[in-house]
Amino acid sequence: MPEGIVIIGGGFAGFWAAVAAKRVAGDRADVTLVSRTPTLEIRPRLYEANPETLGVDLRPLLERIDVAFEQAEAKSLDGGAVVLGDGRRLPFARLVLATGSVMPRPPVPGAELAHSIDTQAEAITFDERLAALAKKRAPHVIVIGAGFTGIELALELRDRMAAHGGDGEALQITLLDRANEVGPELGPGPRDQIEAAIREARVQLVLGVTVREIGSDGVRLASERIEADAVVLATGMRAAPFTEQVPGARDGLGRVVVDRDLRAPGMPVLFIAGDAAAADTGDGHLALQSCQHAMQLGRVAGENAARDLLGESTTPYVQQRYVTCLDLGRAGAVLTYGWDRQVQQTGAAAKAVKQRINRKLIYPPVDATREELLALSRVPVTE
Ligand SMILES: Cc1cc2nc3c(=O)[nH]c(=O)nc-3n(C[C@H](O)[C@H](O)[C@H](O)COP(=O)(O)OP(=O)(O)OC[C@H]3O[C@@H](n4cnc5c(N)ncnc54)[C@H](O)[C@@H]3O)c2cc1C
Repeated sequence: MPEGIVIIGGGFAGFWAAVAAKRVAGDRADVTLVSRTPTLEIRPRLYEANPETLGVDLRPLLERIDVAFEQAEAKSLDGGAVVLGDGRRLPFARLVLATGSVMPRPPVPGAELAHSIDTQAEAITFDERLAALAKKRAPHVIVIGAGFTGIELALELRDRMAAHGGDGEALQITLLDRANEVGPELGPGPRDQIEAAIREARVQLVLGVTVREIGSDGVRLASERIEADAVVLATGMRAAPFTEQVPGARDGLGRVVVDRDLRAPGMPVLFIAGDAAAADTGDGHLALQSCQHAMQLGRVAGENAARDLLGESTTPYVQQRYVTCLDLGRAGAVLTYGWDRQVQQTGAAAKAVKQRINRKLIYPPVDATREELLALSRVPVTE
């Protein structure tokens, strides 16, 4: 096994960390990417139809730039090595931890019975359930969590039901949240557009309620039971369990608080990127668990791991501009700029931006040559 740079996690951050590390290291150090599967799951699209198509095989890209791929579960860190699921030790000189995030199931009885779209496999299972419901008259789907993911999913369901041959217009959709407003994490900026889209789509919005129990046939609230044919959780993400291997301070999402160069405090050979890192964006804000931030964090972490190994100076992480683009289904989308989320575009124009982000900008460039791919890992990336 090479003792060079090891990256754990083949998501948006880990992939770009591997490319950036290889660009800097060239022949001077081996780079190995370890991940459960060779597929980069396009998680931001998992609310859409055809989830089985929403993955990219990273192996041809990694081969093109001479990055080794190890399909394995990383179990723990032991000194200067990653311990893999089969007990093997993968030594490293520098490590990038990019194990992403997961949606923890809420501590509610029956939560394990609900669907989720957190991973491609879960999204496929939910899609199979939708296909089965297409045969039923006026089925009812409850989405728990009226944040970014829950809104996008709820507003897509009529068309997805129709795509399965069902009566999309007859579908009943309920979007539940314990918060008193929809999209609480998005602030007031885009709220009018979100509320209008929800009304037009005839999604029943139930706010300020706590789910007490989930069953395969509905949910129980404090004072009523709502029957449904499928319940989907969209209740938010936390740093993945492997992050617990790293000592040090955490933020409320379980992310490791890193320094400006994305180093884990007290562990100079370890860099952290993506949804596992609580990193200052350079303007006093913390990076979000988003692709936009994960890809840039990955590039900086990979570059810094290689520079540090080669005795070169490291570079601080900076996020150039913060953009949010929320899909509103048939109402188009809403695009905002800045941390206060000022609305820039709505409707079809914003939808075109959303599609460009989701179908192009976040995808690994599968047709790029070796040189193009390496060049795309340079920071800063402004788009
Ligand atoms: C439904 C949904 C909708 C979203 N919508 C948007 C959106 O519209 N816009 C946006 O910007 N972001 C969105 N996000 C968030 C975005 O997907 C994440 O911020 C992004 O995936 C983070 O990238 P990452 O590389 O840090 O982690 P991930 O993409 O989670 O990748 C982590 C990788 O590490 C692997 N891994 C984890 N632990 C181990 C281990 N112990 N051993 C081996 N491998 C391991 C995982 O299998 C995975 O391949 C959405 C997420 C979801 C779930």
